[in-house]
Amino acid sequence: MGIPVFNEKIITPKKHSNVIKENNIQDGKWELNADVVIIGSGAGGAVAASELARNGWKVVLVEEGSYFTPTQFNSDEFISQARLYRDAGFIVTEEQTLSILQGKSIGGSTTVNWQTSLYPPDYVTTEWSERFGWQGYSREEMDPFVSEVHERLGVHEVPDNLVNANNNVLRVGGKKIGLTPQVLRNNNRGCIGLGRCGLGCPINAKQSAFLTWIPDAIEAGAIVVSNMRAAKIKEGKIKTVIAEFTPDAYEKAPAEVIEIMEISAPVVIVSAGAIEGPALLQRSGIGNGWVGRNLKVHPTSTIFGKFDSEIKMFQGPPQSIVIKDGHNQNGTGYGFWLEAAPYRPTLASSLVPFYGKQQFDVMKDFTKYNAGIVLVRDGADGEANASVKYSLGRRKVYFELTPTDGLNMLRGLKALAEVTVAAGAKELIFPFTRFTEPYKVTGNDNFDWILKESTKPGDLTVGSAHPHGSIQSANDPEKGAVDLNLEIYGHKNIFVMDASVYPTGLSVNPQITTMSIVLRASRNLASQKEERTKI
Ligand SMILES: Cc1cc2nc3c(=O)[nH]c(=O)nc-3n(C[C@H](O)[C@H](O)[C@H](O)COP(=O)(O)OP(=O)(O)OC[C@H]3O[C@@H](n4cnc5c(N)ncnc54)[C@H](O)[C@@H]3O)c2cc1C
Ligand code: SF4
Repeated sequence: MGIPVFNEKIITPKKHSNVIKENNIQDGKWELNADVVIIGSGAGGAVAASELARNGWKVVLVEEGSYFTPTQFNSDEFISQARLYRDAGFIVTEEQTLSILQGKSIGGSTTVNWQTSLYPPDYVTTEWSERFGWQGYSREEMDPFVSEVHERLGVHEVPDNLVNANNNVLRVGGKKIGLTPQVLRNNNRGCIGLGRCGLGCPINAKQSAFLTWIPDAIEAGAIVVSNMRAAKIKEGKIKTVIAEFTPDAYEKAPAEVIEIMEISAPVVIVSAGAIEGPALLQRSGIGNGWVGRNLKVHPTSTIFGKFDSEIKMFQGPPQSIVIKDGHNQNGTGYGFWLEAAPYRPTLASSLVPFYGKQQFDVMKDFTKYNAGIVLVRDGADGEANASVKYSLGRRKVYFELTPTDGLNMLRGLKALAEVTVAAGAKELIFPFTRFTEPYKVTGNDNFDWILKESTKPGDLTVGSAHPHGSIQSANDPEKGAVDLNLEIYGHKNIFVMDASVYPTGLSVNPQITTMSIVLRASRNLASQKEERTKI
């Protein structure tokens, strides 16, 4: 178990006055040079920073969010969501069809994620290779990178004593109806099941990027600056990233701050995640029509089940059991998988589709509810119907389920209802907005009706914690925005290294795959230092 440690070398607002003095900064503008500027410190940016710094590159990484350590993580959901998540945990699409959870702090979404550690099956990586030229991404071929990531993050199977009641619903119910629940692997060292992953692990057990790759990068000489939002990338042989100070809403900014950074470097890596990355490129006028198109999110819907005994979905490691039987519908490679969700009251109440007394009745018995989720591999109809657009000074996200993705969601909800009832639930709360009260289990339930439900916007509550694939990579600029080295077509030395580059719906929780593909791409880039940084 790690002891809460503050990394003194991360440049937070409190350090600005020292930096201003040391660098003789005038008018709040810090100009500096580097070999590479990395934008974003999540699963992608942290790995790239570590790999390049350890190979002798002068790295400057800017992160819009703040830097928090375990002593600052707070179990108050309201405060923590505002501090650690983009848009306080509710990135809502323009038509209010989807709400997305995404991290915003040093470590990005890895600071708040739920530790599930998976890699896609071969039928997914084969599709990548056949449709988009992604050669060598099977689990076997990627083993050197995946194993290195596993090693750095302490990935291991969740021990039986840490499988909580919420996950046990999937295990017990799944087995009863003939499915094959599997024990998941998590990334931690010394987890004691406090169940705070989503608000930041208070004992440094979860091996987030801010505890692993970021310290590795700093140790190798990288400059990491929090509270700096990259506003624009200016092109040229030497590129300039212009970043602006972003205060933390809960900590008063010191009197003297660096207002603007102008970092010049021959190479820029965009690792700002699949929502902000395309918006940054669009406002910088960089990239082709695939920037922002075909955003994948793993659309996710929840069924809550009420049990006679206490479940306390928020205690213990969030995710320890998965059911993947529905993952490959009719051999298409597309389908759904089932996991548990560790909602705390605020998030849960926002997902219960009732109001007034009905909602109160649910929330007063909250500890007796489990939460199971269906995650859909989106894109079964060829392309997802979701996008990111930056216009008139604002980033906008659009989303609608396509017909087959909607059908796979309904198939998943039917399976999840059967699992939850088989595990002993007495009531179910469905994500269909036409319901005004919980469904009472009769003991003679047939859930075929679910397959006929509407998935039209407004009829089904859908969320996401996995935005990805909005700057997709392909072997042809007709099919993607970045090439197979993750370099933007037509924009030499500007790379995208994060979850944005997947050409199809990923099909598993993204952190391990994202770190592994970025490790591979950044190692390749690192080996080209001389030609890439020669001016
Ligand atoms: C609640 C939750 C639970 C999850 N659970 C799991 C799980 O169990 N297993 C799993 O595999 N995955 C999980 N994920 C998803 C996984 O963590 C992400 O897919 C992964 O971290 C994505 O990596 P990324 O580098 O693309 O983006 P992120 O990790 O989101 O990092 C992007 C960073 O860029 C910063 N940024 C954005 N714009 C700018 C800008 N203009 N300037 C500077 N910085 C900027 C952001 O603030 C952010 O810190 C979860 C995510 C969430 C939110
Ligand atoms: S379950 Fe608790 S102890 Fe374990 S990693 Fe998550 S927050 Fe840390």
